Amino acid sequence: MKKGRLIAKKSLGQNFIIDENFIRKLSSLISTNNNSFIIEIGPGKGALTKELIKKKVRQISVIEKDNHLIDNLEVFSKKFKNFDVIHQDALKINYNEFIEKNTIIVGNLPFNISSSLLMKWIFLEKWPPLYKKMYLMFQKEVGERILAIHGTKKYGRLSVIIQSRCKVKKLIIAKSNIFKPSPKVDGVVLEFTPHKEYLDVDINILEVIVKKAFNQRRKKIKSTLSTHIQCLNRLSIDTNLRPENLSVQQYCELSKLIK
Ligand code: SAM
Repeated sequence: MKKGRLIAKKSLGQNFIIDENFIRKLSSLISTNNNSFIIEIGPGKGALTKELIKKKVRQISVIEKDNHLIDNLEVFSKKFKNFDVIHQDALKINYNEFIEKNTIIVGNLPFNISSSLLMKWIFLEKWPPLYKKMYLMFQKEVGERILAIHGTKKYGRLSVIIQSRCKVKKLIIAKSNIFKPSPKVDGVVLEFTPHKEYLDVDINILEVIVKKAFNQRRKKIKSTLSTHIQCLNRLSIDTNLRPENLSVQQYCELSKLIK
């Protein structure tokens, strides 16, 4: 496979992983079986792809936007029969239709669109979704916000929305020197497992509430959520609290009452 001569495009968030040990480790943490359908977002030069095709999987589809990388990726279909390259902007795919049973979404995501992509998979129409797991790389700071629990500084909209639909686990830190070119910050790979705890919560209502609460995170909820005081009282939530003091469960309970 031709390698290495392409100049990395900043606009496409191209930071390619060059550390083979890291790639092998990451691949070993991705759990698959003979029914798995892997969707890899932004395969780039195929650093992780070449490990994924060695795993037990039924099908692998990779989605890459950069046309200069497509030919190199096509080579994998000679090594692994059920492999296809989708030359598209991953943000424009309709995942409600594309994701099948036993899907696993994998990606060293372009940092500039990582949260927007994640939101697409969290806001899927059908919940629980057809995907089983997601293994995704984020900037470390974004990862910390996703994982944050209530009562901490990093806890916010991202934490509540994502944790209302998935269990999230920190898998592995990616030091900036494992990439070429090196980004300014380290990355972290997170594992997402969809759960069914809040099936009766309308995520769009939840989103409106957390937006209201966290838009002015220094203010008490008696002012930012003033239109929902009765509901807060019904749930015995102290209205003198600030948005970071309410748990994911409390935000979900509140959303249910506001339906
Ligand atoms: N997976 C490779 C690796 O780990 O070495 C490359 C990761 S690099 C951080 C991100 C990849 O996503 C690049 O190959 C880039 O061209 C691709 N990409 C950027 N924006 C994209 C988009 N909107 N849709 C699909 N791929 C995109």
